Amino acid sequence: MLRRISMVAVLFAMSAPLPAAELSVGSVERLPAVQRALQFFEREREWILQQQIRATSIPAPPFHEEERARYLEEQFRALGLEPVRRDSIGNVLGTRAGADPEHIVLLSAHIDTVFPPGTLVEVRKQGSRWVAPGIADNGAGIAALLALARALQESKLRTHATLLFVANVGEEGEGNLRGMQALFSDPALRRRVRAAIAIDGSSHERLTAKALGSRRFHVTVRGPGGHSWADFGLPNPIQALARAIHRLAEVAIPPRPRTIFNIGQIEGGTSVNAIPFQASMKVDIRSEEEPEIERLERALRRIVAEAVAEENAVADTKRGALTVEVKVIGQRPAGELPASARIIEVFGAVDQHLGIKTQMQRSSTDANIPISLGIEAVAVGGGGRSGASHSLQEWYDPSGRERALKRILLAVALLAGVEEE
Ligand SMILES: [Zn+2]
Repeated sequence: MLRRISMVAVLFAMSAPLPAAELSVGSVERLPAVQRALQFFEREREWILQQQIRATSIPAPPFHEEERARYLEEQFRALGLEPVRRDSIGNVLGTRAGADPEHIVLLSAHIDTVFPPGTLVEVRKQGSRWVAPGIADNGAGIAALLALARALQESKLRTHATLLFVANVGEEGEGNLRGMQALFSDPALRRRVRAAIAIDGSSHERLTAKALGSRRFHVTVRGPGGHSWADFGLPNPIQALARAIHRLAEVAIPPRPRTIFNIGQIEGGTSVNAIPFQASMKVDIRSEEEPEIERLERALRRIVAEAVAEENAVADTKRGALTVEVKVIGQRPAGELPASARIIEVFGAVDQHLGIKTQMQRSSTDANIPISLGIEAVAVGGGGRSGASHSLQEWYDPSGRERALKRILLAVALLAGVEEE
């Protein structure tokens, strides 16, 4: 028995990538410590659910995650992670030392929600469902993160790589992945992370290994403004913006790589009988590939500059010409892992072993950051079912959650390697 375990330990303690055929999920699953961890998920369903309800009940609006971060810091300490610390941007980091401090497998869940301050986040039960804003996104991810940490601690599973648990800020919307950006801006950490798993929302089938990139702009045109009758002929920022929008709508978009742009918000002017002194728009550009985002950004900048120049050329600029400012308000890098990436092989092998039909997805998640840096990373669900995401009626049903927890635990054991007992 001992001998077989040693073989497994040797096999999975190697840091070099292993081909899929050599990944024996079954032998890892049979290890006594892994068995104890898996039993934990079955036995402690109620504890896991209570963690989710408690975390969800603490408001975490965009850019105001402190209270929920403090709670997670306490939980990480209670679970015996060591050291536990909060970084300067507000992420909570808890380490579970492995045999090798130089190799890290990162497990993360974002703690921010899309809901503004003042939103009622009380969790209500409706049949088999739990309802609250953020109960699944990312209550399910947070619950999974804590469940994995406690299962590993109680089972005393010893991993080769060091595990770093992170409850991170700033995943949603204009949070712009700032939690992950800050985490990976540390070169010492970046060098040591071998694999990263972001747990986000429900599902046990999802595997996001492709990062959808986006760049968002706030374009503002300013001018002298004036009276519609007395100052007729002065340059008009709304007219300049309209010229630009008209031309943007005619920019050719390739069918592949899939790319989109959207003028999602427009505002400006003060009155029907005033020449506006300001007009602005917000533009969202997304693509599967970074060069296409860059091409569209160049087109946007050129078109608004030309539109403003044209408006100035036909107007009377004695009291001032129009100026334009293009501000980047969001940036998420695109990228994807090669199909041969070890983390994809590992999840593929685990899913095959568990009879899970892997749903490969491209999306914008916390995994964008490591993927864009060439670090193997995926985003997966924390299990259960959910719906009405990002709405006040968001719901979560924990049935079958253990399947996702088992999937992630086995993947972590394979990615980090298991040490001999
Ligand atoms: Zn999320």
